[in-house]
Amino acid sequence: MKRIALIAASAVVFAGAASAQQPATPPAAAPAAPFIDWDKIQIKTTNLGNNTYMLEGQGGNITIAVGTDGIIMVDGQFAPLSAKIKAAIAAISPLPVKYLVNTHFHGDHTGGNENFAKDGAIIVAQDNIRTRLAAGTKNGITGAMAAPRPAEALPKETYIGGTKTLQVGGRTAVLTHVTNAHTDGDTWVYFADANVLCTGDTSNNTKRYQTIDFANGGDIRGMIAANEAYLKASNDDTKIVVGHGPLAKKSDVAEFHAMLVTARDRIEKLVNEGKSEAEVVAARPLAGLDAKWAANDAAAIAFTRMVYNSFKRS
Ligand SMILES: [Zn+2]
Repeated sequence: MKRIALIAASAVVFAGAASAQQPATPPAAAPAAPFIDWDKIQIKTTNLGNNTYMLEGQGGNITIAVGTDGIIMVDGQFAPLSAKIKAAIAAISPLPVKYLVNTHFHGDHTGGNENFAKDGAIIVAQDNIRTRLAAGTKNGITGAMAAPRPAEALPKETYIGGTKTLQVGGRTAVLTHVTNAHTDGDTWVYFADANVLCTGDTSNNTKRYQTIDFANGGDIRGMIAANEAYLKASNDDTKIVVGHGPLAKKSDVAEFHAMLVTARDRIEKLVNEGKSEAEVVAARPLAGLDAKWAANDAAAIAFTRMVYNSFKRS
């Protein structure tokens, strides 16, 4: 199930890009249809305690923190799910979403931006997200292009580095930028009063490799730094809302972090020896890890390329 969901999520991004390159392709809404039946997707709400909730549907996990006068939301999934997500939020609280935080620019986390901004939500993100959404982006593995997003989808409140604090009545979210990790615009969010930490796609709990978007500033060294920050910020009771997969614990993050460190060590060594990307891929340096973390051979090769290219970013 989890694997299918992830493949479908990526497929939508690529399919959308493909149609942008081939305007002759049938209706604009068509690309997503073969991969995701939006009507069948249900939003599952999990109560994390202290008026904080995790919502799962299709795409990146969502966190909802309810204050006395408004809501802080972290990530918004795909646009076709916005109505269902709004209904799930309304079932929790009648208050409006005051802030929608984008953990990074990928469409399975930002697709709903316009729909929530329309209702008055202020989109908040690290500033590179604004520029990448406005310009459109290229996928480093497939070469697929994602079209620029309209002005309403762009973050209105941004920050460059360090932390940014958001508040609604009685609730505080601390946003922290981690440099060059999953992308170059990652934010993780901590709600201290609920001991809930939201990682976006800098971590996952699918027990699979994670995309490192090296064409958009992603770098395995930043992924490692991010997960080290989570281990430092959390205890055994911390509820960790990862980008994809079920609610995680500190021990899940520790396992994911150990995988990243092994992958970095093995591939950095080959990079330092001057090996080319093709040579590194052929050497299968992650064999052993692949057996556990790669969904299939293509995923094993893609992750090897992502780690290798982390060291080749210009
Ligand atoms: Zn992502």
